[in-house]
Amino acid sequence: MGHITSRQAYKSLEERINWFTQGAPPSETLYKILQVLYTEKEAKWMALLPVRPFTAKKAAKIWRTTEYKAEKVLEHLCEKALLVDSYHNGVRKFVMPPPMAGFFEFALMRTRGDIDQKYLSELYYQYMNVEEDFVKDLFYATETRLGRVYVQEPVLSSENALHILDYERASYILDEAEYIGLGTCYCRHKMLHAGHPCEINAPLDVCLTLGNVARSLAQNGGFARLIDKAEARDVLERSYAANLVQIGENVQNNPMFICNCCGCCCEALQAARKFSPMQPVATTNYQPKVKQETCIGCGKCEKVCPILAISMEEGENGKKKPVIDMDICLGCGVCANNCPTKAIEMERRPVQVITPVNSTHRFVLQAIEKGTLQNLVFDNHAFANHRAMAAVFGVILSLPPLKQALASKQFKSIYLDKLLSSQVNKKKKQIKE
Ligand code: SF4
Repeated sequence: MGHITSRQAYKSLEERINWFTQGAPPSETLYKILQVLYTEKEAKWMALLPVRPFTAKKAAKIWRTTEYKAEKVLEHLCEKALLVDSYHNGVRKFVMPPPMAGFFEFALMRTRGDIDQKYLSELYYQYMNVEEDFVKDLFYATETRLGRVYVQEPVLSSENALHILDYERASYILDEAEYIGLGTCYCRHKMLHAGHPCEINAPLDVCLTLGNVARSLAQNGGFARLIDKAEARDVLERSYAANLVQIGENVQNNPMFICNCCGCCCEALQAARKFSPMQPVATTNYQPKVKQETCIGCGKCEKVCPILAISMEEGENGKKKPVIDMDICLGCGVCANNCPTKAIEMERRPVQVITPVNSTHRFVLQAIEKGTLQNLVFDNHAFANHRAMAAVFGVILSLPPLKQALASKQFKSIYLDKLLSSQVNKKKKQIKE
């Protein structure tokens, strides 16, 4: 009976986690992971919490306890990085992060003795590297990707460096961030414990969280250390030197993280290799071009490409030359940064990549694409307040007609249909005029 009750607590938690558009498909391994991260009591509490940020008062009501006791529990969950807190007009609010990017990673962003990190890493390896459902769902379930790649800025020509947009530069994102947190790279930490250490021996201390998430992780449980902009630039430079790829949240404004990734440990880059030619993250707006007259055929670019997009092939004159698979190239610039003769130039792609403006924009796009918009808005009450709903409608009104039609179908909202038809009428009127 005890076993059944315990199982039920984790089952409820798994269902709660899958309210997110990016959840975690159930499996025996997932249950074991949840058992490491949450006690049975914590699983029961977490399963009842809403999606959108809530106060201790709200949690007390849900848990039928006092506000004082609820606050203590919430603080404890923040200290385990299972919740993130924030302050709105002096009021402290809490939110449960998704598994990824979220509480899966946070658990390994520092060394800790309260959980068995080796066992957890082995479970993560099984769930993400052996079983494939989680990774496929995370990276390929929606056309709008969770992450995007930043081009390595030192390889841009002076003309490209002039024209690159601010949000395309990792350095700009770091300069603009209110808080920057530095933690241990979850991927390499996991692979080290799971018996597959990083093949290029890349540094571990280069995981950057940004904004409120960085502050919360630093102030609760020390999962990150707050650093200044100069140190953040240093992290970026060390990562360039270690041939790591910069991958951040796929938004223009206030991304929550910038990871510095190696091809052997990072789940996204591993997925790029494994499920090629499907790209797990949005590319940069750049692509490499080899100047054949300058290339000496050394093969360095082939060796460093994190997703194995370059192969050395014999040319007409018997000389080896690099051939780049443009269908899978992420445009990171690691090859150009390593070429000893500067034979690789990064050019602007002919078709520009569209990046969601902010996290709300990304959530709505992904929910529409996955067919879960209605759940997101109504069932989970994630956006069930007027301001948040206005933001969601604003995003939908800015979408192309096909996506608007999909949203309208899922939403079944008379109000949204009216907004959309008045937008169409307005456009028709403008055309007539
Ligand atoms: Fe040619 Fe540069 Fe690649 Fe060497 S690293 S093969 S020189 S493009």
